[in-house]
Amino acid sequence: MEYRVLSGSLANLYAYMATTKPGDTIYAMPEALAGHATHHTQGAAGLYGLMVRPIPYHPGTHRIDWTTWENEIRHTRPTLIILGTSLPLIPVDIGRARALADTVGARVMYDAAHVAGLVAAGLFQRPLAEGADLMTMSTYKTFGGPAGGLVATGDEELAQRLDSIAYPGLTANFDMARVAGLGVAALELATFGQSYAQQCLKNAQRLADELLRLDIPVWAPNGGQLTQSHLVAVEASRFGGGTRAARLAEASNVLFSGIPLPLTVIAGDYNGIRLGVQEITRLGMGESEMASVATFIKLALTQPDQAEATRVEVREFRKEFRTVRFGFAE
Ligand SMILES: *Cc1c(COP(=O)(O)O)cnc(C)c1O
Repeated sequence: MEYRVLSGSLANLYAYMATTKPGDTIYAMPEALAGHATHHTQGAAGLYGLMVRPIPYHPGTHRIDWTTWENEIRHTRPTLIILGTSLPLIPVDIGRARALADTVGARVMYDAAHVAGLVAAGLFQRPLAEGADLMTMSTYKTFGGPAGGLVATGDEELAQRLDSIAYPGLTANFDMARVAGLGVAALELATFGQSYAQQCLKNAQRLADELLRLDIPVWAPNGGQLTQSHLVAVEASRFGGGTRAARLAEASNVLFSGIPLPLTVIAGDYNGIRLGVQEITRLGMGESEMASVATFIKLALTQPDQAEATRVEVREFRKEFRTVRFGFAE
């Protein structure tokens, strides 16, 4: 476990440096499936000189098109396959990607930036046990710690390479204050992570159901179940785009972000909305609160002209939830 890493983005660069050379071909989830910028040409992968190819997928879903990929990979000969996205609603078949990678001698990396806390609780997927060589993550999303990154591997040789990428490579002096905070967050996760992650999953499922009940177009990643993580996706076309909707909703004290979905493109904006329950869960909200949260989201999306009134209601509701739970102070 390499902990001197200052961000999840840098954790990805560490992983690229440990497994590839500039000019190599790699595969990553396409941006239409919320593949992260750091997996692509404009981000760390491109800046390091990697040639990025999109993992083929079935249109309209988050499902990988394995047959097309299997045929393609024989010619493209990647050295690294990156799994994991900024919208991990359902687990990905890491074992199958591992088997595919083995046919060309490629490494497999899983980017657990969002789901690290769920992974720690064993409730989403177990990337290293399922066949990933490396797992990278951010430490401030579901992990619940200070901003930073981590790289984990079970491979001794990769671990040594990561150690020398950290020093003398990229960090001469690391931030002890951050690492101390990270240690506490890791202990909290080891102690309270099970109940935290379980509550996140329940809240996300309930939130998705409540939103559907209110006629908000929740998007199903494989045409079936709405979410198996702490995230919920909503189609944004009805609301004029994801980022536009997020800006408007802010005035109602409701915060979320735009995200790409594999649906019809909206010019100049994302076609999806990404909702996450990781922080409201940490503040102690449970399933019974999700009906109110869904109502606020609906108001924020459909009645931006009444933002002033919604804002006051949200503030009143939020007053009850001021303590950070699932930590030692509790
Ligand atoms: C947030 C995110 C990152 C980047 O993490 P930072 O710690 O913010 O640099 C990397 N990968 C994915 C999939 C992310 O969602």
